[in-house]
Amino acid sequence: MTFHDLGLIPPLLRAVEKAGYTAPSPIQQQAIRPVLAGRDLLGCAQTGTGKTAAFALPILQRLAASRPAHRRVRALVLTPTRELALQIDESFAEYGRYLPLRHAVVFGGVGQGPQVAALQHGVDILVACPGRLNDLIGQGFADLGSVEIFVLDEADRMLDMGFVNDVKKVIRRLPQK
Ligand code: AMP
Repeated sequence: MTFHDLGLIPPLLRAVEKAGYTAPSPIQQQAIRPVLAGRDLLGCAQTGTGKTAAFALPILQRLAASRPAHRRVRALVLTPTRELALQIDESFAEYGRYLPLRHAVVFGGVGQGPQVAALQHGVDILVACPGRLNDLIGQGFADLGSVEIFVLDEADRMLDMGFVNDVKKVIRRLPQK
């Protein structure tokens, strides 16, 4: 199977080629089509097996298909640690390099100024650790009312790390559908 067989658009095919990927990994082969079709998906794969591209590629494709008049957070990825958040944000940059979509990352333990500035600039894809995201929502800097796609990355670890209440709080801010 090739990335082309999965129905990815040319800007994404160019990006995976530039990344040096020759074929989709097993989780990518199984996850990309259902996410492109707008289905809910629960995926399990070990670290290092291409899980990030498995959700990032179809998310980028879905977002690229429509351009709302105002840039709003349309995809939200929650992840437990700053390291994972940075890696996922870098993946969106790499896979989305030929698409006009903007992404930002927010996590705690650092000043919020640059994160607030990024949000105010307008983002399509937000990668976030739950605690900082709730802080920013509470201050009115982040709005999840236009989210279409929601990813819980490393959901098991997020719960192990005690983020259950923060995650629930984020979910209450998402649109019903
Ligand atoms: P991840 O599991 O998402 O953290 O990805 C682990 C590593 O595999 C990253 O360095 C990716 O760049 C790389 N990778 C992801 N998908 C592929 C693929 N289809 N072929 C080769 N490498 C890949």
